[in-house]
Amino acid sequence: MKPLNHIELKNIRKQYGEITALDSVNLALKSGKTTVLIGPSGCGKSTILRLIIGLLIPSSGEVFVKGEKVSPGTALKLRRRMGYVIQDGGLFPHLTAAQNVMLMARHLKKAPSEMEQKLEELCELTHFPKSGLNRYPVELSGGQRQRVSLMRALFLDPDVLLLDEPLGALDPMVRASLQNELKQIFQRLQKTVIIVTHDMAEAAFLGDRIVLLKDGKVIQQGSISDLRQQPEDPFVTEFINAQRSLIQL
Ligand code: ADP
Ligand code: MG
Repeated sequence: MKPLNHIELKNIRKQYGEITALDSVNLALKSGKTTVLIGPSGCGKSTILRLIIGLLIPSSGEVFVKGEKVSPGTALKLRRRMGYVIQDGGLFPHLTAAQNVMLMARHLKKAPSEMEQKLEELCELTHFPKSGLNRYPVELSGGQRQRVSLMRALFLDPDVLLLDEPLGALDPMVRASLQNELKQIFQRLQKTVIIVTHDMAEAAFLGDRIVLLKDGKVIQQGSISDLRQQPEDPFVTEFINAQRSLIQL
């Protein structure tokens, strides 16, 4: 059987007033795979995530999640099946790590014993020390805050995980170890993951599929070797080389 397309964007255009953030975007994302959205700042990566989770409605075109169209009527229900880590983490500063992680579950009145067990499981999965659960975000390191954001996104066991530059603000050592951990977590959980980055090495390491965007358009999608060996536009090579030259300095 052909693997299911979990998420589809069909001919999406998104305007913010005069600004065209996305134009003619078509994507079909398979269940259980990790897709990386990459491209220069302002190319529309975060807008794609917001459209998938139904926080934005396209100016034209359609978004489908498991065949169901994302619309104001369905967005709330569909969103329950998605975990979302926004750019910069988005933890509430006045809540402890544990309170942040369990916010939605509390709202949904999950049983306390069930929540405790889930919390313990996620601490193990994300290597977050249980001793940090009663700390406020400001009392945690950058890497720990990202682990808390990830635990919060995973708490209700979503089918889809949307991560917007989750490692962007971290120093290189912490970033490298979290990249390793994320990859293991994705492999273990087999969820449909969409992760945004502007780092090609990170994209190549984490993604089954890479979608390169520029100025609101998809320039190419495929594996890292497709992008390297069969660039469909000069920008693909330019983008890869621009990042490589940083390492060769
Ligand atoms: P990326 O995440 O790739 O940096 P975004 O999706 O955030 O890009 O933004 C795409 C484009 O849309 C940019 O030109 C950005 O300035 C613009 N944009 C994003 N959000 C808004 C908004 N709420 N109002 C107006 N313009 C926006
Ligand atoms: Mg962004």
